[in-house]
Amino acid sequence: MSVESAVARVVCEACGAPVRFDPESQGLRCAHCRHVARLTPRPVTLEAHPLDVTMPDDAGEPAANLTALECQSCGAVVERTEAVIAEACPWCASTLVRAVDAQEDATTPTALLPFRVPRSALAEKVGRWAKRQWLRRGDLKTDTLCDEAVGVYAPFWIFSAELDVSWRAERARRATMKGAQGAEASGQGALVWEPASGRRAHRVEALAVCASRGVPTALADGFEAPPLGSLVAWDRRYLEGFRAERPAISQSLGWSHALKRVERSLYTALGREVGGETHRGLQLSMVARDPRWRLLLVPIWVARVTVGGRPERLLIDGLRGRVSGALPWSAPKVLAAAAAVVTLVAYLVGRGRG
Ligand SMILES: [Zn+2]
Ligand SMILES: [Zn+2]
Repeated sequence: MSVESAVARVVCEACGAPVRFDPESQGLRCAHCRHVARLTPRPVTLEAHPLDVTMPDDAGEPAANLTALECQSCGAVVERTEAVIAEACPWCASTLVRAVDAQEDATTPTALLPFRVPRSALAEKVGRWAKRQWLRRGDLKTDTLCDEAVGVYAPFWIFSAELDVSWRAERARRATMKGAQGAEASGQGALVWEPASGRRAHRVEALAVCASRGVPTALADGFEAPPLGSLVAWDRRYLEGFRAERPAISQSLGWSHALKRVERSLYTALGREVGGETHRGLQLSMVARDPRWRLLLVPIWVARVTVGGRPERLLIDGLRGRVSGALPWSAPKVLAAAAAVVTLVAYLVGRGRG
């Protein structure tokens, strides 16, 4: 089957030209005659499936007719409604080439969050964000940002589970008598270490883990849980003019990422629970009961800005417009801040002496 015959475009009902999904009107806009056809979203209840179920039989299947392109560098498989032979990978800018047939995929999302932030709003959002980046370079070139930004529906696993958490640690209390057994000498007396342990239940609720290999981990983990209330049933018309990435991280690998994140946040919470004056050797173990997954597509704009001649990649949440990325440090701003700190310290030291 040729690429062309595999892809049937959705066309304008007024003039027959190809259309694109328009985030502002939530409809299909014709680039030729500007006609907008409203899209009536099909509501969807995203059922949570047990972790050991890879693909439930009743999940429904997205219509095929998509061109699948694979990145030779980061491994992302990106789907398009247009018949393209090759293009740049939205994540790593390597070349995407024709991949396996889209229909052969095992786990396909059945729901998505449509783009709400239009392309035209990106430069202004990035500009406002850059102004708030303390000590970072603000001399961004954003003139081509809106035209070149690529909108990708990135796959996210949404996990939920009940966890039984048991922990053990040693906590210290202040000895009432100096020289008690097991006491350590200290300036104000002595610390006595005693074993402590406990259990607690912890609910994991709608924890979002990015299933794309292209999205940098630091940015993917920083993504807030998407609001599941705005979900619609998968419909290829939302993909017109955009890309959709297939899950590159399996749900079992995604679940282990989720558990690591839960563990990190529990260490902080349990640190307070251990009690005592201080504690050491905190260890925890978690047993998950009935872990469940859902899979959906989250809209992300991938934009490039130039800072001092170097390209920097930024991600903009296609739903709420939040920008994430790291601009290079600004040497003058860092020096100015350091000088201010030195001046303040000198002033305080001088006042202390005087
Ligand atoms: Zn038209
Ligand atoms: Zn890539």
